[in-house]
Amino acid sequence: MKRCAVFLMLFVFTAACASLITCRPVATYAADVTVYITKTGRKYHADGCRSLLRSRIPISKTDAAKRGYTPCKNCKP
Ligand SMILES: [Zn+2]
Repeated sequence: MKRCAVFLMLFVFTAACASLITCRPVATYAADVTVYITKTGRKYHADGCRSLLRSRIPISKTDAAKRGYTPCKNCKP
């Protein structure tokens, strides 16, 4: 009986893992990408761009584009 329960738990865990893995690409595709803008610039950047040394304000890519920000040519977000 105990072995059966362990097997069941293992099965549920494996199933949860599998669904997480299969769902992840869809979630990533649906979720908005976070980019970063600066206080003064009119461009948005990928994380780690040199231009973000002074200020680094996270914003969704869609929002940034809506507000008139354009992608940085250096980091190509
Ligand atoms: Zn940049």
